[in-house]
Amino acid sequence: MLRNDRAILFDLDDTLYPLRHFRLSGFAAVARHVAAHHGVDEARAYRILLGAASGPTRGRELNVLTERLGLDVPVATLVRVIRRHTPTLQLPGPTAATLRTLGRSWKLAIVTNGIPAIQRAKVEALGVEPLVDTVVYASEHGTGEGKPEREPFLAALEALAVEPARAIAVGDDEFSDIFGAARCGLRTIQTREWRRGPFGVVSLCADAVVSRMSDVPVIAGCILPERLTEYAA
Ligand SMILES: [Mg+2]
Repeated sequence: MLRNDRAILFDLDDTLYPLRHFRLSGFAAVARHVAAHHGVDEARAYRILLGAASGPTRGRELNVLTERLGLDVPVATLVRVIRRHTPTLQLPGPTAATLRTLGRSWKLAIVTNGIPAIQRAKVEALGVEPLVDTVVYASEHGTGEGKPEREPFLAALEALAVEPARAIAVGDDEFSDIFGAARCGLRTIQTREWRRGPFGVVSLCADAVVSRMSDVPVIAGCILPERLTEYAA
């Protein structure tokens, strides 16, 4: 009989879905906000944010918006709009299919960095919680710094009752996900489906690198094969 003693711990952002979709959802919320409170054309505001998201203004999109439209609104207010909005997100089909496949013979967890309230809103919007056994908000463990601290990984393993040596961490970030999990004694798979490089030397620590989520079941099965045990009648 099969012993379900293996686990896979997934990162969330840029691992189970493209983080870019959350940014776009946030931009849409900001566009709605400035349209409602500052009389700006919503579509124009969204286009400005989108345009600023590529090239040298990337990361300064909200500043670009206020400067371009001459808005007398602190950028911090718009940051709050993004943080508090209810995101519109969809779990990619291959992610859902892969989690369903893995759920038959692995225990599954999500271990995510970031502000827990925002991460909870993402998890809710993606509808991913029913596909895994537990969700760990990393900054609620250890010092609050999140991965690569050991505590978030160990909290997930404890919830799943799985030993580190029987677990694999899957994530895009070589420091938070790969280094963090490896030093807890987990095996690791780096995903590069949505994350753009460059990738540093720590990537070499990963046991495997995949470019598609749908490759995870086969690779994970090679890294940690199922244990077959026999029961005496
Ligand atoms: Mg990530």
